[in-house]
Parts: sequence; C-alpha cells; structure tokens
Amino acid sequence: TFLNLTGFGGLMWYRPITLQHVLDLKAKYPNAKLIVGNTEVGIETRLKRIQYPVLVSVMHVPELNVLEARDDGIEIGAAVRLSILLNFFRKVVTERAAHETSSCKAFIEQLKWFAGSQIRNVSSIGGNICTASPISDLNPLWMAARAKFRIIDSKGNIKTVLAENFFLGYRKVDLAYDEILLSVFLPWNKTFEFVKEFKQSHRRDDDIAIVNAGIRVHLQEHSDNWVVADASIVYGGVAPCSLSAIKTKEFLIDKIWDQDLLKNALKILQKDIVIKDDAPGGMVEFRKSLTLSFFFKFFLWVSHQMD
Ligand code: FAD
Repeated sequence: TFLNLTGFGGLMWYRPITLQHVLDLKAKYPNAKLIVGNTEVGIETRLKRIQYPVLVSVMHVPELNVLEARDDGIEIGAAVRLSILLNFFRKVVTERAAHETSSCKAFIEQLKWFAGSQIRNVSSIGGNICTASPISDLNPLWMAARAKFRIIDSKGNIKTVLAENFFLGYRKVDLAYDEILLSVFLPWNKTFEFVKEFKQSHRRDDDIAIVNAGIRVHLQEHSDNWVVADASIVYGGVAPCSLSAIKTKEFLIDKIWDQDLLKNALKILQKDIVIKDDAPGGMVEFRKSLTLSFFFKFFLWVSHQMD
C-alpha cells in the first residue's frame, strides 16, 4: 500500500511486510530512504528541510528483526531497536560463559549512554550504522568487536563485509544504490579477549560524544608472558568517520602486555590519530588527550582483569 502525493509535492510512504517487497522497492526507487525510528531522517527532513520523495518503513520485515544467539555469535537484524538489543545483551550475558560476552558487556555500557530511552525505544542499529555519523557511539564498537555486516542487493545476493571496512568517509558507507544492510553478526569473544567502550561528552545523560572509542585486545600466554595476539583500537569524533588506529594496532601485535608496551603505544597513538588544529568540532587539545587517556584506561582495565 502507498499514498501517492508526489504530483502535489508530497511523498510516497511504503510499509512492506516482506523482504522481497523491500528489495523490489529498492530496485524501483534506488534513492528511497529506509525508515525505522526516523530519528536521523526526521532531523534531516524537519530541521535541514531535505526532501525524500520515497520513504520505506522496514520495521515490520521479519528478516530485518532477527535476534538470535548462535554457536559462533549473535545475528542482529538491521531493524532491531536499540532497547530490544540492550535487553537481549543483558539476558545473553547471564547465559553464556563470561569470556564470550566481553563485546556484549561493552555494548550494554555504551547503550546506557546512547540518547535517552525514547530514542532507544524506536531507533535501530541499521539506521545508526548506515548514517555513518562520525560520532556514532556504536560504530567504533562494531569495528573493534570484529562484527560483520550482511548486505543484500535487490536481486537477493548476500555478501558479508567486515565492519572495519564498511565506513568510507563522512556519512558514506560501502552500500550500492540497490543494496541494504540485512543484519549484523557479532562473534563471541575468545578466552583472554577483552573489549571495552569509551564515551566522553559534556553531560552524562542524553548527549552526543566529543570522542568515543571501542578497544579490543586478545592476549595469549607465551613462556610466562602475556603477548598481544590481536588488537583493534577505533575512535569516533576524531575524523570524518569512525577511525582505526592501524599503526598502533600493528605495533601491539606480538608485544608483551607490560608498562613498556603502554609507554610506546601512547607515543605511536599520538602520531596515528591526528586531529588538525582547524578540525570541525574544535576542542582539539582536549580530543587529542581523550584518545590517549582512553587507551591508558583500557590498559589499566585489561591489566586488572589479568591480575
Ligand atoms: P532512521 O532515521 O530511520 O534511518 C537513518 C538512515 O539509515 C536512513 O538514511 C536510512 O535510509 C538508513 N537505513 C536504515 N536502515 C537501513 C538498512 N537496513 N539498510 C540501509 N540503510 C538503512 N546516535 C548516537 O550514536 N549516540 C547518541 O547518543 C545519539 N543520541 C541521539 C539523540 C537524539 C535526540 C537524536 C534525535 C538522535 C540521536 N542519535 C544518537 C542518532 C540516532 O538516534 C541513531 O543514529 C539511530 O540509531 C538511527 O536509527 P533510526 O532507526 O532512527 O534511523
């Protein structure tokens, strides 16, 4: 069903209940906006006066609302609302082995400070991911947590992209016009793999981040030392999109987790995450110090877990 008011400067509003119908609409109207909570699109249309002639509400499509714990991780449909995801994570952490849910716990903490409950009750993970805001609170965590995004095109072909490779630039993602985000796969954590969230904003409640981050490290024991097998350090609020500190990650691999690692990693991080003096958003010195202090806090937190 749709209301065709385009001839009168209005819009078409679709409310499909099957995935196939969404894909057909995407093939027919490549510029159609998908809507779940309307918390991003609503701002664009009401405050920025941007007009979208075709809107497709996808909240009733079963495949986009999947939420399942599997043997290897969790499958989360793109239209799953944040408060539903938060409750699901809270349940999962009571049911699985503690080490498997380090990422889930990080998401629980980050979601507590994501907007307010009204916004969390309606807004979706897909809307947050596909908007690719440079200060998205969740995108650095998806990237750090090794999440994979499943993308479907209008012919029904599905491909999988690492969250790490999905964000291309300012509000730009790796999606073709006839593709949509179908779901997110969040793997369980390995033993001695730790994930933590960070967010600094002006207020604690209902505020956007100045800088946020998702950081992960996987440690393995080698001749009485804990050595970094894998790591990921991702920041929001420091670049046009969520940004990985690649050189710091490369430095960490195979290093012993000790005070020397911390000292040297902070030096590399300073050069890895560069915020120009005239960067949009200002507060450049403060933001630089946040990137370092988040890593410092992460180091202390992990070391404490290993005691
Ligand atoms: P919608 O507005 O419905 O859609 C957003 C965009 O995503 C559209 O362009 C749409 O086409 C696209 N899209 C949606 N689903 C798909 C899909 N399956 N495939 C492809 N494209 C898709 N964000 C934060 O990170 N942290 C905060 O603290 C925060 N606080 C906020 C506070 C307020 C008051 C408001 C208004 C917003 C806030 N946001 C925050 C931003 C926003 O709430 C989130 O980005 C939210 O998750 C968007 O989801 P939605 O369902 O409302 O998106």
